Formats: sequence, C-alpha cells, structure tokens
Amino acid sequence: MNVYDSNRIADVLKPLGYSLTENAEDADMMVLNTCHIREKATEKVFSDLGRLKPHKEKREDQTGERVIMAVAGCVAQAEGKIITQRAPYVDLVFGPQTYHQLPEMVAKLTGERQQKRLVNTDFPVEEKFDFLPEETTHQGASAFLSIQEGCDKFCTFCVVPYTRGAEYSRNVKQIYDEALRLVDAGARDITLLGQNVNAFHGEGPDGKIWGLARLMEKLSDIEGLERIRYMTSHPRDMDYDLIRAHGELPKVMPFLHLPVQSGSDRILEAMNRKHSRDLYFDIIERLKKQRPDIALSSDFIVGFPGETEQDFEDTMDLVRRVGYSVCYSFKYSARPGTPGAAMQNLVREDVKTERLIRLQDLLQSQQIAFNQKMIGQTTSVLFDRKGREDGQIHGRTPYMQAVHVKGNDRLIGEIIPVKITEATLSSLTGEIETSETILSKDNQAA
Ligand code: SAH
Ligand code: SF4
Repeated sequence: MNVYDSNRIADVLKPLGYSLTENAEDADMMVLNTCHIREKATEKVFSDLGRLKPHKEKREDQTGERVIMAVAGCVAQAEGKIITQRAPYVDLVFGPQTYHQLPEMVAKLTGERQQKRLVNTDFPVEEKFDFLPEETTHQGASAFLSIQEGCDKFCTFCVVPYTRGAEYSRNVKQIYDEALRLVDAGARDITLLGQNVNAFHGEGPDGKIWGLARLMEKLSDIEGLERIRYMTSHPRDMDYDLIRAHGELPKVMPFLHLPVQSGSDRILEAMNRKHSRDLYFDIIERLKKQRPDIALSSDFIVGFPGETEQDFEDTMDLVRRVGYSVCYSFKYSARPGTPGAAMQNLVREDVKTERLIRLQDLLQSQQIAFNQKMIGQTTSVLFDRKGREDGQIHGRTPYMQAVHVKGNDRLIGEIIPVKITEATLSSLTGEIETSETILSKDNQAA
C-alpha cells in the first residue's frame, strides 16, 4: 500500500512542477513514506533521515531555496511530534490520510511567508480519494489499486486501526475508472489493495453496497486486464461469494495471501483474531474445491505474549498441514498504544529468535518445494521488465514467482507461455515456448 500511496503522492505533486528523481542530491523535496507496523521499520526512518540530511543542506546551499524534507505515512501519523524533536530539520510531517492536501502544505512551506514547519496528522472529514488527481504516473505491466483502507478489527498486536483509521471502502465507479486508466497505461495485472481488502463494501453504480466478489466480476469486463489479485485478506471476511469467485472468475489468480498469524487457538484468541484454526482449515478446503490449483501464502508472528512451546508447535503443525508457497514471518514487537503492549508474560527474545528460525526453515523448505514442482511445467508469465543480464527479461507467474528467461525486450507487457527449467528459493528460470504472439511481434518489428 505504501508503494501505491507513494505513486499517488507523486501524482499530487506533478501539477506543482515536481517530477521523480533517483538521486537524493537533485531533490528539491524528499518524501519518506514510512511504515509503522514493526519497531524495525520505525528505526529505519531515523537512520534514513540522517543519511539524507547532508543532501538537503548541500542542495539548499547550492540553490538558495528550501529543500522540503517530509516524513509521510504511518510513522508520521503515530509519531509526528517525536519526529520533529528527534530530527528538527524535518520540514513537513503528514499522515496517510492527508496527502491529497499536499498542494496547500507545500504552499505554506515555500514562498515569501513560509512556515518553519508543518505537522498534519488529521483524519480529515473529506475523503482523500475524492481529491486525488485522475492522471496517474503509473507505468508497467503490474499495478496496485487501493480499494479499501483502515481497519476496525483491532487485533491486539496491530497499530493499523490507529494509524490508518477506521475502515473505509471506495465506491465502485471510482475504482473501475482508475483500473481503466491503469490498463490504458499498460497494466495487465492489478492487485486490489486494502488493510482488510476482503471487508470491502463499496457503493455500486446501482446505489447498493457491493462486496469484493462483485467488484472483481465487474473489473473482469475490462479488456486488456488479464490478472486480478487482492491483498491483504482476513480469514473472517472470506465469505461464500468471495470463495466462489475464485472458481467462477478466470481472471482472479489462483494465489491468495491469507494471513493466519498463529496456529494456536489460545494465541488467536489473545490476538483478538476472532476465528479458530479450524475455521482457517475450513476456508482453505472450500477454496481448493473452487480452485484446486490455488496456492496460499500467510504472515506469522512468533513470540506473542504468552506463547508457549505447545502454542508454537501448533503453528508449525498448521504450516505442515496447509503447505504454503511463500510466507512472511516476524518476531512479535510491542507497538505503543496497542493492547498487546500492556500484556504480561512476554516471550524472551532468544526464544523468539529460536522459534523464528525453526519456522522460517520449515517455510523455506515449502517454498523451495513449491518452486521446484514447477520444473518441466509450462506456465503463463507476464513479462514486466528487463532482467539483470543482457538479453534477459523478467516476469511473474500466476503465483507471483519471479521468472527469468532469454527474450527480447519487446515482450515486456506480454503474457506468454514459458517452460520452467530451473527453480531456486526465490526465482525460476525458463524458456519461452514459441507461440503465435511472439512470431507476430517479431514480424511487426521486422
Ligand atoms: N491486515 C492484515 C495484516 C496487516 S499488518 C491481517 O489482518 O492479516 C502485516 C503483517 O505484519 C501482519 O500480518 C503481521 O504478521 C505483521 N505484524 C503486524 N503487527 C506486528 C507486530 N506488532 N509485531 C510483529 N509483526 C506484526
Ligand atoms: Fe491489523 Fe490486520 Fe488485525 Fe486490522 S485485521 S488490526 S490490519 S492485523
């Protein structure tokens, strides 16, 4: 979601004359769009700020103009004051719900009567999506599209309900129009985003409330859009319609990120996840009935307060039973202001580390096995960029695996069958199966 927000921040700044630069030395404005989900993410912001400060000072000396150093996103939302105390050279702090107001904020910080500093961490009454520019700077075969934001679930470890605010769904027309523009700009694969994306309940063109399944059915009409995904889902919101959509809508990819966090009912309850491990197994079984080739991914937290060895073993058991294609796993970190932060019975740091290693070993072995199963198979690959080596291009399978093949750059943006020949933990190698698409492309070029 931060990638999506960063693109939109660039869209808002474009009419003011700003364009993107890869080099901090050239920047007239620096925006650090931050994540507050874990402690590590927050600390990184301060080290990045320190690294960028000399560039700001040097450029200000050179040009005589103020270089706006901004901190955006959820760290800004949660720690606005602390940021300006710890890094007083920061000019602007704004939260994830206010970036549509950037033109006004920038105006206050530039020109003759400029403000010394601005902190904007409101949750404005107006909805930012109604104010963002239509034009998008997005380029490329894969795109993100935010359809839902915020969360009302209040899992006891999580800061999202505090930093992103209450759950909100965009309306269907706005989403559909944005998808059309993304497809016009070359997107073939769109990931619908939300902190709790399957809780989506946006107003449809008929004035009724639509769920995610109905939205994806509508988006399936868009010619040129070939792949639809959504992320991140909560097990409790995997309703009947959505599960059925996996069987009925061919553009919905057979890959689902469905975080479970823990395999222990006791810990799930302490986390306030409001579902059992059995419900999770049940959802997966029903998904597989609809789409037998579906692959699953999850997030896990180890060392939540009170987690015993048995609880952790329950998580390992769940992982073995489900068999994932790829997962993300983290040591629990207490986030200020969450109920988890006040809990007793903390798990020792060395125990957390040891459990994380055991879990990651298991997850990695599943990931390698999943990738290796592809060897010898032909799968469709959407090529999205040049590869690292000359004459090589990079793409993604329906399961989001990275694939490298020898091929012409002209194939970027195309979906082409590829025979997989090698597989490692993080990527696949393959050969393009000659097809009419490729021949006609080559002929055109000739
Ligand atoms: N909405 C998603 C999760 C969003 S946060 C869901 O309900 O599953 C992304 C991931 O960060 C979470 O799935 C969780 O695994 C991890 N995470 C969130 N808070 C954390 C914390 N305090 N400590 C460690 N990991 C955390
Ligand atoms: Fe955080 Fe996800 Fe729980 Fe919401 S559902 S509180 S975003 S972990």
